[in-house]
Amino acid sequence: MSATVVHASRILTPDEEISDAIIVVEGRRITAIGHRDEIRIPEGATDYVATGMTVVPGFVDVHIHGAGGHDVMEGNARALDRITSAVAQHGTTSIVATTVTAPVEATCHSLEGIARYIRAHENPDEAGDNRPLRAEILGIHLEGPFISKARRGVHPPDAIAKPAVETLDKFVKAADGLVKIVTLAAELPGAGSLIESAVAAKIVAALGHTDANYDQARAAIQAGARHAVHFYNAMRPFSHRDPGIIGAILTDPEVTAEIIADGVHVAGAAIQVLIGCKGYDAVILASDAIAATGMPDGNYRLGDFEVTVKDGVARNGEGKLAGSTLTLDRALREVVALGVPLREAVRMATVLPARRLGVAGKKGIIAVGADADLVALTPDLRVAGVMTRGAGLA
Ligand SMILES: [Zn+2]
Repeated sequence: MSATVVHASRILTPDEEISDAIIVVEGRRITAIGHRDEIRIPEGATDYVATGMTVVPGFVDVHIHGAGGHDVMEGNARALDRITSAVAQHGTTSIVATTVTAPVEATCHSLEGIARYIRAHENPDEAGDNRPLRAEILGIHLEGPFISKARRGVHPPDAIAKPAVETLDKFVKAADGLVKIVTLAAELPGAGSLIESAVAAKIVAALGHTDANYDQARAAIQAGARHAVHFYNAMRPFSHRDPGIIGAILTDPEVTAEIIADGVHVAGAAIQVLIGCKGYDAVILASDAIAATGMPDGNYRLGDFEVTVKDGVARNGEGKLAGSTLTLDRALREVVALGVPLREAVRMATVLPARRLGVAGKKGIIAVGADADLVALTPDLRVAGVMTRGAGLA
């Protein structure tokens, strides 16, 4: 098995910073990292020299609907190939394929297709040389149907449903057990039992598209909800006498909050408020990207409805924001521009989402034994090279 040796001016693991660093990749995994004086280079290795660059782990996107002209709800290999290739160009090496609210049968049909694709790509050839550069789909995020009609954003109202454990079970079965996140509105009847059964099935219960007041949100957190979906967006607004879901999340250190840092969904100061309240360790950069990502302006589908993209901003017919065209490399640049230290920004796109998904140690980290998912960043944080499970970069 031939090895690839990455020489970088510095790496951010991201918990540690190593300058003049070397990463040895054999097969799909990292087999050594350290300062160049400490590492024995395997014979016959291929070198990738990233002079002047910072190498970080590949980004992990917990909320993404599509890219490259396709939507995950299409559920077929062609669409999923296009999506995973498009985001890999921007340094995203792992995604959680995110559904939108749709009728149960249609959702199950999509889930079956996505699950088939995931299973077929779980164990890539050990030799990465001929594999195309594509992000790995780690599982599925169900965004809907258990959401609030009042805070539905662009999700179609007719398919919105009350939280029901039987429906979740149906989805989990269709998805071959690959559901990783379920978004729900905390205030709906049945939310508590849905959260409990999600947690029992090792699914992250996430609060989103919700009109919950503070007490309802607290009850959901008590039941086991640990993540907030596109924080601030599609949530009951904060008020000092009615702090609501936003107040509950800002004050609970256990709950991670994902943020769409595209300069459109959330004002910079609001991101600073979030970080100020929760610290860097509970904030996750997510894209909420749709099919139009990496594509020109125009009309695209999100689930089974149409959105129009103008100047990179996606809206439905009523002018409501409909996901984004954000990629995580841009999200990283956006938060760094707000004053977030690079190391913390990288953690928000790598190790923190990996931890939330329960795949820390394998994803979102440069460590011996972890998947060789790497991004070489220029000093102005542009992506210069990407490796996914040992394929690419050279
Ligand atoms: Zn949403």
